[in-house]
Amino acid sequence: MTDYDVAILGGGLAGSICAAMLHKQGISHVLVDPREEYPNEFRCEKFNRQQIELLIETGLAEPVFKELTPVKDVWMARFGRLVRKQHYPHYGFSYNEAVNAVRRIHVPKENFLLNTVKSVKNSADGQMVELTDGSSINTKLVVLATGANTGLQRDIGMHQEMLSERHCLAIGFNLEPKSEFEFDTMTYWPENSYGKMSYLTFFRTSGGWRANLFGYWNSKDPLVRKLMTEPVNALVEMMPSLRNVIGDFSISEKLRIRPINLYQWKAGTSDGVVSIGDAWSSSCPGAGTGTTKAINDALQLSNRFIPQWLEDKHFDVETISAFYHDKKKTEIDQASLREAYRLRSMTLDNTPYWKAQRLLRFAYHSMRGKLSNA
Ligand SMILES: Cc1cc2nc3c(=O)[nH]c(=O)nc-3n(C[C@H](O)[C@H](O)[C@H](O)COP(=O)(O)OP(=O)(O)OC[C@H]3O[C@@H](n4cnc5c(N)ncnc54)[C@H](O)[C@@H]3O)c2cc1C
Repeated sequence: MTDYDVAILGGGLAGSICAAMLHKQGISHVLVDPREEYPNEFRCEKFNRQQIELLIETGLAEPVFKELTPVKDVWMARFGRLVRKQHYPHYGFSYNEAVNAVRRIHVPKENFLLNTVKSVKNSADGQMVELTDGSSINTKLVVLATGANTGLQRDIGMHQEMLSERHCLAIGFNLEPKSEFEFDTMTYWPENSYGKMSYLTFFRTSGGWRANLFGYWNSKDPLVRKLMTEPVNALVEMMPSLRNVIGDFSISEKLRIRPINLYQWKAGTSDGVVSIGDAWSSSCPGAGTGTTKAINDALQLSNRFIPQWLEDKHFDVETISAFYHDKKKTEIDQASLREAYRLRSMTLDNTPYWKAQRLLRFAYHSMRGKLSNA
């Protein structure tokens, strides 16, 4: 049995940033995760402007950014032609590169425990975290950062509210262009505005060219089946003019297809436990807001709430609920949800309002592109 002030369960982006920030403040803590290195999974693969700003606010950003791929411009294309070149500095990466960089650079080895959490016995007076090897941790506060893994929340009486089941489909793959692309990142909009495709994005990572396709198909849709067996033909069928912009390309690996649910947990009776990142609520990958939520949760919690709770020695559910009602957190969480629904309507909704929105978006970017000669 080992004692810490804070036990962070789960070392994804949210948990690792939280651990790193507590370390900087000298707060006693442990980060528990079953994997020494975060594996190569299909997740967030770029940091946008807001995410970069939040990371800078954590004070952890600079050495982490050095390990990622900087990108300067975003091209936007449709109907086989370039619509606009937008100056938009950001970073491309594989999710594991970013998480492992935070862990390696900022989380000392002695604060990392390679183990899996089996259960949490929580109360307002102290928490016991049981690990699968039979050992346990005594702690004042548990930070649940276990991502989409739902077992522990249910254990401590939290309830999941499903906001939008099978909200969208995220499809990721590496591709090899026949001739090197001229762009760093390109977003390709659907050629048929009545289809279910939201957009396709290409970007450079240290491992080569990567593409993410977002849409609202059912995973049994014939198009999705074709994407699995003949990905190049399926993409060209979906976007007949795509090769006018990117030329010939090949895909040598199996596409990674992830159906996404939008959910949020209800705090219920969770004395002594606070949830962050995907362990609190999920996001639509096409909206690109999950990482914003994860970084912001870790930032607000570690900077302001945890030091205050430790000083006051209060860890009851009412005290902890102040975090879920934090102004910046609720703004960011609500914006994430709004963007998830906006993107869906922008793609699927055929009412006059959304048809007009689609036209306006295209007209706006075309005009900006013409004005800047792009
Ligand atoms: C396909 C896809 C594409 C996405 N694209 C984007 C994007 O473009 N932009 C964007 O902003 N967001 C995107 N997201 C969302 C974003 O990746 C997530 O919101 C973010 O990574 C969540 O981080 P996290 O730390 O909360 O969870 P995770 O990164 O999932 O970390 C959870 C950690 O908990 C650990 N864990 C689980 N159970 C236990 C246990 N019992 N004991 C100990 N440890 C445990 C796991 O090992 C893992 O390390 C995407 C998501 C998906 C699925």
